[in-house]
Amino acid sequence: MWKKVSQLIKYLPGLFTLLLGVACSPPSTPPQVMVAPDPPPRVTEGPKNIILMIGDGMGISQISAGLYQNDNQLNLERFPIVGLHKPYSSDNLIPDSASGATAFSTGRKTYNGGVGVDEDGNPIGTILEEAEEEGLSTGLVTTSTIVHATPAAFIAHVAQRNEFEAIAAQFLDTEIDFFVGGGRKYFSRRSDERNLLAELEAAGYFVASFEKGELTSMEIDYRRNFAYFTSEADPETVQQGRHYLKPASKLACTFLNRKSGEEGFFLMIEGAQIDWGGHNQDMDYMVSEMIDFDETIGAVLDFAEEDDQTLVIVTADHETGGFAINPGSAQGELIGAFTSDYHTAVLIPVFAYGPGAELFGGVYENTAIYQKMRSAWGW
Ligand code: MG
Ligand code: ZN
Repeated sequence: MWKKVSQLIKYLPGLFTLLLGVACSPPSTPPQVMVAPDPPPRVTEGPKNIILMIGDGMGISQISAGLYQNDNQLNLERFPIVGLHKPYSSDNLIPDSASGATAFSTGRKTYNGGVGVDEDGNPIGTILEEAEEEGLSTGLVTTSTIVHATPAAFIAHVAQRNEFEAIAAQFLDTEIDFFVGGGRKYFSRRSDERNLLAELEAAGYFVASFEKGELTSMEIDYRRNFAYFTSEADPETVQQGRHYLKPASKLACTFLNRKSGEEGFFLMIEGAQIDWGGHNQDMDYMVSEMIDFDETIGAVLDFAEEDDQTLVIVTADHETGGFAINPGSAQGELIGAFTSDYHTAVLIPVFAYGPGAELFGGVYENTAIYQKMRSAWGW
């Protein structure tokens, strides 16, 4: 008798589940099973090169304003895959450029102001440094100073973004092949009296600056690393006549493609001043920078279409200005309004083209962009 009871008890859970199953589900419905979400699918044929383009402060409303002020067309429309990322940082729903770029470069959320460091301020490896270690060529192009938070987060590790001289010194720690941006004074007029321009030359770099002539007039030696400073401090605005982002980005593509040979390259290109237009609550400033960035996107896409082995990703770190396009607006005649002179927390679009682009559809954390770039490369 006891044996029978124990056998019954032994089989009870299964019997109960069976009865419950029969009672609760119509016979045709397959059982509902909770499973973990699939990891991002591995692409079979990954890219050789990855170009990450960051429009600082470029939310949906900045893109929309650029579109309507540009005859209802942007190169962003050429991208087949669009996703959204969640831009908040580890300590604030409202991110800044340092935490945003660190999320892309390292796959970790950090605090606002942190550059290439984790939440505790510890240095963490970046996709650019990892690409260097893998034998790829690397580059950075920006319309801010080259030591500003966005480019800095790919090559430097400092607790606070305003440590510009420390960031400049860290350009000597990673053998980056190509960089173009402003902020020469952080390399040449330093409180520690080091001359980093001379140190870069001693390390084999071709180093040039704005007063030696336009970037495009430089004689390029593809065997040497290349550094070009567009200004002593902050570069000019598009409205003041700055026009180097597109030619510098085209040169970066051809230079890195040639220098890297069979290995491939990683390149980050930043349209930095969309953000500055937003902080100034100046729609014309913001839109002119947006269109300059989009023209650069067009040139990079032309390269990628021709090359066929390049993944191009375009996104932003965050939106700036809480910009809106208000009633009464018409094509080419927008009535814009700003709700803030700082950043906002709205979701940020991600555009992808080329091998591995399919990884970038969907809604995900900003840190996933780092993981997706690695998956695309099969790392
Ligand atoms: Mg920036
Ligand atoms: Zn900003």
